[in-house]
Amino acid sequence: MPAHVAVTIDLVAPGIHFVEGPASNWVVLTGDGTASLIDAGYPGDIDLVRGSLRQVADGLPLSTIAVTHGHSDHTGGIRELLGDHPGARVVSSEAELPNIRRDVTHQVTAGAILPHLVKPRFARWLRHAIRAGGLTDVAVADPVGLADGQELDLSGHPVRVRVTPGHTPGHTVYELLDAGAVATGDALVTGHAVSTVRGPQSLHPMFHHDRPAALALFHELDREWSGRTLLPGHGPILRR
Ligand SMILES: [Zn+2]
Repeated sequence: MPAHVAVTIDLVAPGIHFVEGPASNWVVLTGDGTASLIDAGYPGDIDLVRGSLRQVADGLPLSTIAVTHGHSDHTGGIRELLGDHPGARVVSSEAELPNIRRDVTHQVTAGAILPHLVKPRFARWLRHAIRAGGLTDVAVADPVGLADGQELDLSGHPVRVRVTPGHTPGHTVYELLDAGAVATGDALVTGHAVSTVRGPQSLHPMFHHDRPAALALFHELDREWSGRTLLPGHGPILRR
């Protein structure tokens, strides 16, 4: 990992840290003698994920990795983390499990990217995605399914599961009930390498499995979460 690559760690609430990685983000939760993660970066981010765990969860065993969706920039570090913490469980909505296991792959295709590569920021994004291991096998063997509305305990923090299909068929967001915050995954982001906009936005349409559904849901969630702290899959934390 080049020396200049670093992450930004924000304290969201006691025992909840938002980590802004080089190109995608993750959340570390600590409490009850364990740590949990929401998402796990690109495969190439594994040392950064481990470093963030050392920094804010030093020595705690990882109990749960909650996944927003099965794209390699969010699930990339999971296999290595399960090697470090064999007791950890991986969870996401039932509908997202085939994408996480890679029985199917709902991820942007070369054909969808190609027309955009004349634009330098798209070419830069693709170069980073490939270098960060975006094309490597990230299949996770035994993820456990969650239901919409289910309440989950992540290292002592009450979390409500919300199934938000659009970006992927079973995209899942996690409402952090003791922090007034939402880990929004890619249902709502605040920035992205191919975007010139900062602030709440829907990802570029080429990334979405169901574009109209993803866009409609983004507007709905942006309104609904007007008073919440947003912890997006891409871009900085947004306190509002
Ligand atoms: Zn993403």
